[in-house]
Amino acid sequence: MSRNKQRTTAAASAPTPAMEAAPAQPATLSYVTPTEFVELPSRGQFYSPEHPLHNKEVVEMRYMTARDEDILTSRSLLKNGLAIERLLENLIVDSEVQPNNLLIGDKNALLVAARVSGYGENYNVTIKCPSCNTNVAHDFDLSALSVNHGVQPDEDNASGVHKTDRGTFIAELPRTKFSVEFRLLTGEDEIYLSKASAQLAKLNLPDAGATNLLKRLVVEVNGVNTPSEIHNFIDNMPAQDARHLRACVQVVTPNLDMTQSIECSSCGAVTEMEVPFTSEFFWPKQ
Ligand SMILES: [Zn+2]
Repeated sequence: MSRNKQRTTAAASAPTPAMEAAPAQPATLSYVTPTEFVELPSRGQFYSPEHPLHNKEVVEMRYMTARDEDILTSRSLLKNGLAIERLLENLIVDSEVQPNNLLIGDKNALLVAARVSGYGENYNVTIKCPSCNTNVAHDFDLSALSVNHGVQPDEDNASGVHKTDRGTFIAELPRTKFSVEFRLLTGEDEIYLSKASAQLAKLNLPDAGATNLLKRLVVEVNGVNTPSEIHNFIDNMPAQDARHLRACVQVVTPNLDMTQSIECSSCGAVTEMEVPFTSEFFWPKQ
């Protein structure tokens, strides 16, 4: 246990390489995979009392090993989109914690920590400069991402959202003046939404990501909790209300702050850009 370096910030420093962690002598190949404590952006709030992460501020994760890498290259897992999920399932020490039941910001924090432990904090991606449209290579520093715990709804906040004692939030809509209760996005919702999007794309239909997201998260409108009525309301709600509701969701969602400022190596323009999740995230070019 003493070999395990404890840290509470997500992706704050480079993992200790295996050779350093092993005793210098005698020559032995036994080696305990170190673990680390990753800070949850949610601080365990918003999970129901039955959830294993209820009120937990950190999650213990193993460092990535060669065997974990096999998961990332398994063709069948990649094809089914299960590789990332299976990886997290293996790395999280508490087997009660299911990656799909994680709040989205917590899942992001664990993914970044896993990436840093496996391949380091340097993430090289080709991005398109918004100023000059040139494709430039950029190194993102994954250890420099800060944790955003979300606007605490009990504090004064401009959007007027407040928290309920069931881990959900209430927002007042500016046009209809309806009161909307919503919950936070989970890994499972994310998978559902991306499948729904892919299906629409296959049928050449316009994407409905924004309304589907709200349909997924809203649990009650003005005391009505029948899903069909809520869905109907969301489809027909004034655009101004929809925009306000999406902003409310955004402002209370705890997450890693994925924005970094980038200087274009071609024109010198400095832009704030979100770290993109590309295939290089877990499959870096060597
Ligand atoms: Zn540029």
